[in-house]
Order: sequence, then C-alpha cells, then structure tokens
Amino acid sequence: MSYVTHLQCVECGARYSEKDDVMLCPACVSRGKAGILDIHYDYTAISRVISRDSLAKDTRRGIWRYMPFLPVDPDAGATHLRVGDTPMYESTSLARAIGLETVYVKDDGLNPTGSLKDRASAVAVSKALERGASMIACASTGNAASSLAGNAASVGLGTCIFVPERAPQGKVAQLLIYGATVVVVEGSYKDAFDLSSQAIEKWGWYNRNAAINPYLVEGKKTVSFEIAEALNWEVPDWVVVAVGDGCTLAGVWKGFKDLKAAGLTKGLPKVAGVQAQGCAPIAEAFRQGVFEIKPWREDTLADSIAVGVPRNPRKALMSLYESGGTVATVSDEEILLAMRLIGQTTGIFAEPAASASVAGLSKLVSEGVIGPGERVVAILTGNGLKDIKNGIRAASEPIRVKPDLWELEEVLREKGFDFEGA
Ligand SMILES: *Cc1c(COP(=O)(O)O)cnc(C)c1O
Repeated sequence: MSYVTHLQCVECGARYSEKDDVMLCPACVSRGKAGILDIHYDYTAISRVISRDSLAKDTRRGIWRYMPFLPVDPDAGATHLRVGDTPMYESTSLARAIGLETVYVKDDGLNPTGSLKDRASAVAVSKALERGASMIACASTGNAASSLAGNAASVGLGTCIFVPERAPQGKVAQLLIYGATVVVVEGSYKDAFDLSSQAIEKWGWYNRNAAINPYLVEGKKTVSFEIAEALNWEVPDWVVVAVGDGCTLAGVWKGFKDLKAAGLTKGLPKVAGVQAQGCAPIAEAFRQGVFEIKPWREDTLADSIAVGVPRNPRKALMSLYESGGTVATVSDEEILLAMRLIGQTTGIFAEPAASASVAGLSKLVSEGVIGPGERVVAILTGNGLKDIKNGIRAASEPIRVKPDLWELEEVLREKGFDFEGA
C-alpha cells in the first residue's frame, strides 16, 4: 500500500484515483491540452511513519529509505541497484571561483547508470512491475534511455528505446550493453518522442516518458530528500539545476514541498533552472511570466537539455513561480568552461548539461540575483564519461614529448609550468 490519495490535473484540477489507471487527464487531452497529472499524498499519515529520528536510525541506503513518500507499492518489486545515496560535497574552491561563500555540489553522476534519471527509472520499473507489464518504452535525449534500460535489466523487463540521432555514443553503448532494443530515429528529440508515443499506443507497452508519466517526478524528488538530510534538515537558500523537459526541476521542488508538508523541514528553497542559450523555451516563458511555450531549435552541445519542445513545462514553471526562483541561460562556451572549473575545483567529471548548472549559478551570482552569503546547492545531474567528445572539447591539449627527460623539462619550462605544484 502507498500513501497516495489521488492524482490531480495541473491544468483543470480534475481528480483521479490510482484505480482509474490514467497517465494523463483524459478531459484535458480531449481538449487538445497536455493534461499532466500530479500525485498527492496523505502527509499526516506519512508523518506518523517517517521522521528525522526514524531516518537517522534507518540503515537502508538509496531512494527506498523514503518509501512512504513514493507512489509505489512496497511489495511490487524493485531494482536491486543502489539508486540515490549520491554524495554531496562542500567545495570552497568552487565557491571562491564563482563568488560565493558556500556551495555544495551533489554528484548524481554516481548513480548506477551515471545520471539522476535513475531516480525516476527505478520508480518507473516498480510501477511497470506493479501493472504486470513485460515491456517498457521511452524516448530520450540519452540518459533517461540508458537509465531505463539499466534499471529494467536489473529486474528482467524488456525495453524498447527511441533516441534522436544526436545521442552521444557513450549513452547508446550503455543501452546496447543493458540489452535494450535501440531505435535511433533520424530526426530530433521531438521526432523520437512522437514515434515512441505511437509505438507505445499501438503495442500497449508501459510508458516511461518522463513528462507524460506522473510517477517519474516522484522518483526525482528523492534528490531533495538527500540534500535536506545531508544538511541536517536545514533547507538551502537555492538549488540550481539544468532544465530540459522540466521534470528534474519540478521533482526538486516537489521534494522540498513534501518534506515541509510532512513536518521534516521548516522552510523552502528557491529553485533556479538553467537552460542553454541555443534552446531555452522554458526560460523564455518564465521571463514573460506565462505558461505557454514556443518551440525552439535544439542548438546546444548539452544534449541532455537540448529539448526544443519540453513536455512538462507547466510543472517546471510552477516550481519557478511558486518558489520565487529564477532562470539563467548559458552559452556552449560557458558550459565548457564550467565543466573544466568543476573538474579542477571538485574532482568531479560532469557532463555538459550537468555543468550548465554551475555555469548558470556563476551567472546568477555575478548578476547579483544570488547573494554571496546564500547557501547554494548545484545538482550535477550526469557523468562526464558518457560524453568524452565534449569533455575533450572542454579541456586543453595534453603535452606531447619524446620519451626524453631533457625534452620534457624544456617543454614544461616553455609552458611556464610550476614544478612545485603550487
Ligand atoms: C535529463 C537531464 C537533465 C534535465 O532534466 P529534465 O527533466 O529533462 O528537465 C539535466 N541534466 C542531465 C544530465 C539530464 O540527463
């Protein structure tokens, strides 16, 4: 049994029960609207079974320690992979470099398949098992796909995955290794998404498409539980995260709202969403103060946030409006710079989309939107090893010498190298 009370349409407010087995609001869909649903819980009941003390004594690692907050039947079956429980570090050198006193980085690239998407996929897989599904499908810019394939493989479910042509090779390699049927769609993410929807409809597969499936945001919100728990239930002033479809941002916000509703925390952070300058439909809508999205071209090297037609803009925009948050847009050059800065100051190799969070944070600090004394958490959503092409683009060239110590010394001196390592 879960603590879910009902599902509610974020557009028209219509309520559905779990038994209705709907993924979108049928009333809104029939009027040509998105009809995204939000999951509601009985927080009074949750607060009776989970507390700061009970969590302090709970030795389970990963997202299942927050089970009462999740929309899954604890008996349905779950992945054995350790999803969540990723480390969060305070970095004084990164803070100094971007003009802050305190910054924390949450390394979600250390999830089993290398991205925060595992938090959503773990829930998706449990839901699919609960429904008795044997095949699960999605379209993805890359990480959602590899994450679904890995989590599904861990419980023996089949996967059919649709990716756009631009998906980096590392992510496609992951899919194949996890045994997914991989369909590379000749076109954009939107084309991959549309074809996957048609196939899911036709063959009745379980749908993991993040924005459509309201259960997935619920998995993503566990990142906020971990952040709050690591900070001793003191909520940070800001949480900064990159935005593509908008589900991650919405999940982060939902997580903090859940904790407050269940009495585990007092305040709420502001959330800041970062998009690429070449693909910023959600940032544009936020700046105009509206919910309507204009489609964009997908012109950025940060493949995970190259989402020209976001599928969950309303939940993301609501998070920004409700929290008093903001957006930043960053160029590809700024993303590559941030990638190097993160690597050099924290020892974490983050992929371009993940690095965009720090690029955007740096911009918000220099614009005075985020004050130097505010406590900030940047979520590094994915691992840089998945996309080494851009990693190499971000870094400088290595030194090349013959195997000769004299030549080495000469070249290093020419470069002004500091032999003391200061
Ligand atoms: C998916 C993803 C994002 C953005 O999440 P959305 O829910 O699409 O907004 C950011 N960073 C990485 C690494 C991702 O894989």
